[in-house]
Amino acid sequence: MYRNRNPAEQMAFDPSKKTLVLLGTGWGSTTMLKNLDTDNYNVVVVSPRNYFLFTPLLPSCTVGTIENRSIMEPVRLLMRHKSREVKFYEAECTDIDAERKELTLVRRANSEDSKGDQEPVKINYDYLVVGVGGTVNTFGTPGVEENACFLKEMGDARKIRRRLMDSIESAAFADVSDAERDRLLHMVVVGGGPTGIEYAGELHDFLQDDLSQWYPELAKKIQITLIEALPNVLPAFDKKLIDYTQSTFKENQITILTRTMVKEVKEKSFIVQNPDGTRSDIPYGLLVWATGIKAQPVVDRIRAQFAQVQTNGRGLLVDEYLRVKGARDIWAVGDCALSGYAPLAQVASQQGKWLARRLNSLATQAAREGKTDADVFSLIEEKSRPFKYSSQGSLAYIGSEKAIADLPFFNRNITAGGVATFWFWKSAYVNELFSLRNSTLVVSDWVKRFFFGRDISRE
Ligand code: FAD
Ligand code: MG
Repeated sequence: MYRNRNPAEQMAFDPSKKTLVLLGTGWGSTTMLKNLDTDNYNVVVVSPRNYFLFTPLLPSCTVGTIENRSIMEPVRLLMRHKSREVKFYEAECTDIDAERKELTLVRRANSEDSKGDQEPVKINYDYLVVGVGGTVNTFGTPGVEENACFLKEMGDARKIRRRLMDSIESAAFADVSDAERDRLLHMVVVGGGPTGIEYAGELHDFLQDDLSQWYPELAKKIQITLIEALPNVLPAFDKKLIDYTQSTFKENQITILTRTMVKEVKEKSFIVQNPDGTRSDIPYGLLVWATGIKAQPVVDRIRAQFAQVQTNGRGLLVDEYLRVKGARDIWAVGDCALSGYAPLAQVASQQGKWLARRLNSLATQAAREGKTDADVFSLIEEKSRPFKYSSQGSLAYIGSEKAIADLPFFNRNITAGGVATFWFWKSAYVNELFSLRNSTLVVSDWVKRFFFGRDISRE
């Protein structure tokens, strides 16, 4: 359980120490904060959300297999365990002046609680770690922002769950024509990566386990379609696992359309380009867009400060020590860092841990040798080993209690698919969850679902 430290027991900010600002409360920054020795720095965390989100289980929240708050961890819970006070500002970093070491922060309007954005505020940093992740990539496809749902943040999962139940209740309403009912019950997923596949799997389970009980006639008419522009789904996985996923989807009556590109999303239908080049207009009730990420706007602002070397629009180029190229005292971790690794939670958290340890030892060494940190940065780089990612394997849930796993094992890859893998998937995730509190909540959600099924109320 939590041993709550009384904030008064924590050491206060020390003006003689350097200020380290962490941007983001995702996988990279939160793991960094967890491993950082706050004796060495005054730490300030800036993020528009005051919690960490366990993204691998987000698809489960779209249908209520898991309740939203079970996979959220307030960042202040983590801060309480540090030896020195950590400041948290719930705001978005919108700009940077690397010369003056100054950041611009804005508290955004939140439609439910506040009217307009607040006046920007400036804060200073000595060292900066950027872990702002990415934002959804629509590839400029018209109508996606307005009509599709994303699956990136908790708000997205909440919106999907609400829209799904809205479509179903609308389809159950009096006097709905057959065509309109079929439209409302057509559930579309765009993107055949792990996120799209897991969401389709969860949706299938919801249909199979719950909707078929509550809406026996309607449930038979629900159609799930997954659309992928590439020749096959799950490009990062082994061929055997792709085949296994495709045959499981077929059994589960989920249609997969490959080599098919979404060209426009309208309010009630969307246009695709088929493999033969022709176009079709397909009616839908709910469309989830899960096709990957692009750089956050603030990343472009940081790049602009080092325009000579920061030439890649997809993110921040970093060296093998995760330092942002062109900068002396800025590092980047996770999805916003172009380090040659895939945008994965595993990569982000290993980078956060590695960088925290590195900054811990830098500070200790600087103090011991009576040097400035900056001198030590260049010294230690010759001696220390660069960051290296060690893959723990890839796991994906594909529905009906089956999961697939691609695991590195003594330099060989083991592939596994099936029900046993599903239990492995569950236990792997529970062990990886951030706190005992979250693990308990997730397991109790699973138990609750086992006995009572998923909740179908529309919030
Ligand atoms: P994030 O975790 O995205 O965090 C970014 C943080 O920065 C957030 O707190 C955000 O609020 C904050 N932020 C954004 N803009 C600003 C700003 N301007 N100023 C300050 N803060 C800002 N990976 C796996 O390895 N395994 C999986 O099973 C898996 N499943 C996934 C399922 C889903 C549905 C999704 C969406 C992703 C999944 N991923 C998975 C990918 C994984 O979540 C990302 O790779 C990981 O989150 C990257 O961590 P990060 O710290 O770079 O960014
Ligand atoms: Mg992060």
